[in-house]
Amino acid sequence: MTFFRFLLLAGIIYLLFKWLLKSPRPAPRPRSFDRQGQAIEEMVQDPVCGTYVPVGQALSLTREKESFYFCSDECREKFKQLQKPN
Ligand SMILES: [Zn+2]
Repeated sequence: MTFFRFLLLAGIIYLLFKWLLKSPRPAPRPRSFDRQGQAIEEMVQDPVCGTYVPVGQALSLTREKESFYFCSDECREKFKQLQKPN
């Protein structure tokens, strides 16, 4: 009966391979998502943590006529600390 056991094993391995190849791979998607059919807002990058935030939700800071956007007040404070001379 070893031949049948081999066949069974081979079948299981085959099915497993098929399933593995069939399983969808997570495709890289843009970070802007459209919830509740809303128009996708412009995304801005937080220079402190690198997170992308929709402009409407971002906290802004203007320094030397340049605008910076942050995901949270924490990041904005960190940025202020980093920008301090000395
Ligand atoms: Zn941040």
